Amino acid sequence: MAILPVLTQEDEILRKQCEPITTITPAIRKLAKDMVGTMRAAKGVGLAAPQIGQAIQLIVLESPPAEDDDDNPEFPLQVVVNPSFSAESTKQIEGMEGCLSIPQWYGPVMRYQKIRVSGLNLDGKPYEKVVDGFMSRVFQHEIDHLRGVLFTDYIDDPTKLRKIIPGKEPDEDYLD
Ligand SMILES: [Zn+2]
Repeated sequence: MAILPVLTQEDEILRKQCEPITTITPAIRKLAKDMVGTMRAAKGVGLAAPQIGQAIQLIVLESPPAEDDDDNPEFPLQVVVNPSFSAESTKQIEGMEGCLSIPQWYGPVMRYQKIRVSGLNLDGKPYEKVVDGFMSRVFQHEIDHLRGVLFTDYIDDPTKLRKIIPGKEPDEDYLD
């Protein structure tokens, strides 16, 4: 499992509309594995293919167990090909977000509280899952990457962005 460099927001691939995956080849499976390794090495909870330089519709998500952290609940590894989502209700909630491609910054973003995610798994079988709360936020963030959208696009007031001080935990929850 290779650990790949994560591209930062200056890279134009992060602004591209990513292509759907038509055939799940061994190369796609290997890429998914490398994305999982890269996400874990970076201590992220999600990663989208364009972040490692592939403009295709593939995301991985995972939140390892964390003690006494209600804002970052644990969820098992998810690998989704060609993901899309629909809101299960109109309710949106604000939460702090960060991104491995925008190191050092995090800020508040409104997201649907509960969504239904559809796509394919790595066997080419339909993937469908209703998720809410933190996991719903991570899915929306990663699916945004597949259409060239970054979380900072939602923040119209730059003073709302906060800087992550190295070695110091942010005072509010964030994800990357
Ligand atoms: Zn991101």
